[in-house]
Order: sequence, then C-alpha cells, then structure tokens
Amino acid sequence: MKIIKTIKELKRYISDINRLGFVPTMGGLHKGHLALIKKSKEKCKKTLVSIYVNPTQFNNKKDFKNYPRNINNDLNKLNKLNVNYVFIPKTSEIYKKKRKQKIVINNKKNILCGKYRKGHFEGVVDIIDRFLNIIKPKYMFLGEKDFQQYFLIQNHVKKKFKVKIILCKTIRDKNFLALSSRNFLLSKKSIITAGKISKKLKLFKNKIKKNNKHIKKINEYKKYLTKKFNINIDYLEARNIKDLSKFKINNDFKLFVAYYIDKIRLIDNY
Ligand code: AMP
Repeated sequence: MKIIKTIKELKRYISDINRLGFVPTMGGLHKGHLALIKKSKEKCKKTLVSIYVNPTQFNNKKDFKNYPRNINNDLNKLNKLNVNYVFIPKTSEIYKKKRKQKIVINNKKNILCGKYRKGHFEGVVDIIDRFLNIIKPKYMFLGEKDFQQYFLIQNHVKKKFKVKIILCKTIRDKNFLALSSRNFLLSKKSIITAGKISKKLKLFKNKIKKNNKHIKKINEYKKYLTKKFNINIDYLEARNIKDLSKFKINNDFKLFVAYYIDKIRLIDNY
C-alpha cells in the first residue's frame, strides 16, 4: 500500500492506470467505508482511497475540530484490505490552485442538509472537483447514506467529468443504526437510542409506502420522536429519489432525516 501526500507524487503513481477506482473519505473509517472500498476492488484494477477532512464543507468550526480523526487506525484497516494507494493531502496542497470561478450549485442545494448547513455542499463539490481533476478515476464510489451529497455530486460531475459514480448501499450495525464516523462521538446509550430511531423511521417509511395518506402525519411523527427520544430534529421529509422534489404520490421516494443526539448531528435516509 502506497501512502501518498503530494499531487506530484500521486500523478507519478497513477497516471498510467486506466481502470482506477476512487473512494473519497474523511477518515474515521468504519465498515461502511470498507464496503465501498471492497466494491472498488471488485470492479477496478487499482483502488485509491483519499483521507481528508475538508475544512470548507464544515459550517461550524467546533464540528471541524471535533471530527473523529485516527489516521493510524485508518491505515491499518486499509492495509488489511490491500488498498493500492492512499492519498492524504495537506490543505495547502489541495487548495493551492485558486479557482477562476466559484463553485455554483443551482439545483436542490437549499433543501435538507443544504438548508441547515450553509455552504456545506459548495465545499463538498469543490473538493470532489479538485480530486477528480487530479485523479481522473474511471469509477468513484459513494454511499447512499449521504444521498443528497451523491445527488449534487452526480449533477455536477456529469457535465464535466468522464467518471462513473457507483452508489453503494448503507451499511448498518446490528441495531439498524447507519454506520458513521460521527458514531465514534456518541455514548453507548445514544448509540442504542439512535438505533431505535432508525428502526422507527424505517417502519414509518413503509407505512407511507403502503398507504400514502400517512404522509400527512409526518410533522406529528417528528414531534413524537423529538419528545420520546429527547432529540432535536433539523428535518424529517419524504422526497422523490429522482429529483429530490417533495413527495406527493407513491413513486420512488425516500424518507430523509437529520437530528442531534448528544449534540452530535446524524443523518440518514430510508
Ligand atoms: P465520509 O468519510 O463520511 O465523508 O464518507 C465517505 C463515503 O462513505 C461517502 O460516500 C459516504 O456516503 C460513505 N459512507 C458513510 N457511511 C456509510 C455507510 N454507513 N454505509 C455506506 N457508505 C457510507
């Protein structure tokens, strides 16, 4: 496994690989990340994983500072999986080149997480754009857990890059809680509570799917969860998968949630 820190070095190693798989991460690796990497290894000749906690996508300095970082643990996990390349750039390296034009996202950036984390998706799209310009992978692997992120990246990328995005299923723990680096910041008790919330939301989604009239109860359900589990919910919304428009009739939809527990913000969709 080659650990690479500079763009120059990276280009030297990967420029001749024509079936390269890329898995962008912010570290704090868990089985959700590892599932993406395994998919890449199956599909691609070589796999490159990036570990970079991107400051521009954090709308809150404290959140950035407290984000779980454990590079030695991460490298051990990647080594066991026989990952070919790990790219760990410094901010000065990856943001050295100034943009001529600011990243603009037109579509669906002010809903869901975009509404509650100002500038977050501009930061996400900016860093992915930078990575793709340097790495030029054939495939990029993203998780369904961050569905809005996938949606906005896909929209940005399809106009500009040849890369094909492979969306990978959300990996959950035995209590149905979606794995997340932020789970490392939760108490045991909150992990259990968050698992219960996940199960309830999955059941509620299925109820709406069976009979659309239950969508009318969504705000009532939001209040019920807030009170029962002592959480703060940013949003609980049903939206169509295709274009993230508000759910109206029964077609392909997902239930999206973001909430705070133990002052930690979790997101998921069902
Ligand atoms: P992050 O390190 O949180 O930026 O996530 C890096 C990638 O892993 C993103 O494409 C996420 O959607 C994906 N990911 C995070 N959690 C999970 C999970 N539980 N299952 C599958 N993919 C995930």
